Formats: sequence, C-alpha cells, structure tokens
Amino acid sequence: MIIELMSYSYSSNSYIITGERNILIDPGLPNNEALRSYLHRRPTRIDSIINTHCHYDHIGGDFGEDIMVHEDDADAVSTAGEKTMFGSFVDSFSGFEVTRRLKEGDRIDNGEHILEVIHTPGHTSGSICLLDRENDTMFSGDTWFYNGVGRTDLPSGDLDQLRGSFMRLREIDVTHICPGHGSSFKNNIDYIIDNYFFVV
Ligand SMILES: [Zn+2]
Ligand SMILES: [Zn+2]
Repeated sequence: MIIELMSYSYSSNSYIITGERNILIDPGLPNNEALRSYLHRRPTRIDSIINTHCHYDHIGGDFGEDIMVHEDDADAVSTAGEKTMFGSFVDSFSGFEVTRRLKEGDRIDNGEHILEVIHTPGHTSGSICLLDRENDTMFSGDTWFYNGVGRTDLPSGDLDQLRGSFMRLREIDVTHICPGHGSSFKNNIDYIIDNYFFVV
C-alpha cells in the first residue's frame, strides 16, 4: 500500500510504502504535521527512510536506524553541509548518519513493493526518482512537479543536468507521479518538457 501524506506547509510531502518492512519516503521537516498526525492516528512502524535528495525540507525529520540517500547527496546529509539548505529553516543541524548510499539502478524491495532508483541530477546532484513499476507510480522528489520542475539555483543545481534527467524520465512508462511538494498527478512530461526546457 502507498500512503500519500501531502504537506500543507514548507515541509515536503511524505509517502509511506507498506510491506514486510515499511519505508518512509522523505519525512519532511521535523514538525511535518501531515506525517505526525497520520502516525498518531495510525501508529506505523517505520523501518527505513529514503530521502529523494539532501534538502532540509525533506530530511529534517529523518529518524531511525536505516536512512538511504543517493551517494552524491549522502555526505551533505551526514555532515549537515550547506548543500542541505538547513539554514533556511533552523539555526543548527547536526546531520544524520546515512546507512545506505544509493546508486542508479538500485532496487529496494520491502516484500510488497520494489522501488527502483533513477538518478535524476539537476535540482541537486544526488536527486533521485523512485519507480514502483508494479503500481505504475513514481516518486519524483523536487525534480518534477505538476506545474513545473525543481529549481536549479541552489548548491549543485544544474539546468543542463535537469534537462537530461527529463529526457531520461520521458522514456519511462509510468502514469501516477507523486512529487515532493503539491498534489500527485498524471504523467504530463511532454507538457513539462515543452514549457520548461524548450522555450525560446
Ligand atoms: Zn523540497
Ligand atoms: Zn529540494
């Protein structure tokens, strides 16, 4: 089961992927009310966390024993680097130990869902999308929103890389997109590419 917890604050959205091991994609900010109130109503053991990238609005609420981040964003999370942008949210942050550094093509199997790691640099160098083929769903982090793409003016952001990431994403047959902010939506990648990368 995929539980979509849409945030109404600066926090990112969170997604709980249930199975033999329950995975939380992006806890969001430490006070993420959508996640907190869900876990209060429906206490759920969280076994692993996957962060779609290193930004504090996605990782600030990390907890537990098993935290996965792409290898290119992992150092920022573990050393509380400026790349996390924590200073936009809090005065101090000490980081989280990353227990698994993800790479392109990694598969995370929780017994019910298989999440494939697609490395989509551009918003940050270690941004990933997670594809659940069986359920025709992709978790797109801050790479792909209903009405736009992730900003590329923050540390390690790169517009050319983001364009390349979208050229790759266009090849993937998937319907349901679950972004890091805003509501989920049906695949609109041709609209996004036409409007955000080929404007002259
Ligand atoms: Zn974000
Ligand atoms: Zn971000």
